[in-house]
Amino acid sequence: MQTDALDIADTSPQDWKYISEGGSTIVFSYVGPPNTLFDRTALRLRKGPVVAHSDPDKHQEPQLAEPSTLEDRQTSKNAPADPDEPDDPTIVFQRTVIEQLMPIEHLPRLQSVHVARAWLEELAERTEPLRPPQRRAKDTIDRGRRKAVLATDLVGGAGCAVEIKPKWGFLPKPTYLSEETRAIKTRTCRFCMHAHMKSTQGEDVALGYCPLDLYSGDATRVEKALRALWDVWIGTGGKVNNLKVFVEGKIIKPRADLTSLAPLTAQLFPTSANPDPAYPLDALRSAFINTLLPLLLHTPVLHTLSTLQRTLDALDIEGLAALWARMYPTIPLGTGPAAHDPDMAEWARFVSARAARGNQSSDVVPETQEELHYRVAAYLLGASFKDCSIILRMPPRAAADAGVGEKGTVTVIDLDVKGVDRLPKWAALDREIVDAYRGVVPRECVDAHYGGGGGAVPLA
Ligand SMILES: [Zn+2]
Repeated sequence: MQTDALDIADTSPQDWKYISEGGSTIVFSYVGPPNTLFDRTALRLRKGPVVAHSDPDKHQEPQLAEPSTLEDRQTSKNAPADPDEPDDPTIVFQRTVIEQLMPIEHLPRLQSVHVARAWLEELAERTEPLRPPQRRAKDTIDRGRRKAVLATDLVGGAGCAVEIKPKWGFLPKPTYLSEETRAIKTRTCRFCMHAHMKSTQGEDVALGYCPLDLYSGDATRVEKALRALWDVWIGTGGKVNNLKVFVEGKIIKPRADLTSLAPLTAQLFPTSANPDPAYPLDALRSAFINTLLPLLLHTPVLHTLSTLQRTLDALDIEGLAALWARMYPTIPLGTGPAAHDPDMAEWARFVSARAARGNQSSDVVPETQEELHYRVAAYLLGASFKDCSIILRMPPRAAADAGVGEKGTVTVIDLDVKGVDRLPKWAALDREIVDAYRGVVPRECVDAHYGGGGGAVPLA
């Protein structure tokens, strides 16, 4: 028994409100009676895939297929009902790795919490009707788990919170790129190329948003990025996941009638100063940008993220694939016995090795298996920082009106460990994205931190 974990059975499933979900987890916010252990917390549960039922009439409860992700494999080893199930890998990974790279004041507080099947089943039953149909078809709450993650609830409570998925904040160095891709990949950023490809496939994407603007630290460019995110948010009814807006814990989905935006308007404008009724949307956008801009310009988080991304992915997937091919000429990238996921001890060694390397130039890469494993781990970790979100939390309007000097906060979330089996998919996607961009009039994306001291990570 690990005694430091809380027990979710001290609350009722009814005390938890469905907030949102990603590819592998689903998140609830505590809305029950006052409770010092659970107030202002969010519960994060693992999901598992739903097995397709051959006979839809026989449908009872969704069943789980074999675990497919690294985290699933690691934590399901002890399933179905081991009370000594290890803490969720998110927690161990944050303590071992993430906290060594990102100052702790910019990370959510994570705690382990015990869960039981009956409790999870009741919660799942209440939640299924609230989930998007395309998600319900794919996966469901994994009832086999005995531990889950309790985190700081960053979107609930009074006030307004904005979630931004900033994505890739750097242009690759030309050193390890191939002749065929060098010109393309060093001119247009990965996000803009990917957005182009998705839009040609009919997907809603954040067209016009360039992460390099958001990461630039330049007020005009950060404002441009926020404007693009807002316009896409309004234009797609909040369907694109690069921007989410929460007011008092409730996600705002913008609709044409504008009443959907009333809670946000109430947050952004003091009661005495309603937005210009002739141009309500323009006024609201300006107020939104003016609220977020100072927070984004002053936080070190974006620069830290961009530096981590570019230094951990110093070779680009092309350079990594080339190094792999020289070490294992007959084994495809990310497969075979050499492709094992680092365990936590190896992650800890990676963090020390990275610190020891310091600011050494990464231009000379030794062709050794040890170096390859280091670079694979670095790439996986870099992928976590490319895929994370940041939560900007604004103080409640009343506090701001009263001149109470409460400042906003910026917190990095969703830093999950990625599995090595993703490498071949990433390499294939990279080729697909670049190929889809050939012949397109290229967008010139400007990396404000390009070449700025490869290994220098601004850390506390
Ligand atoms: Zn771009």
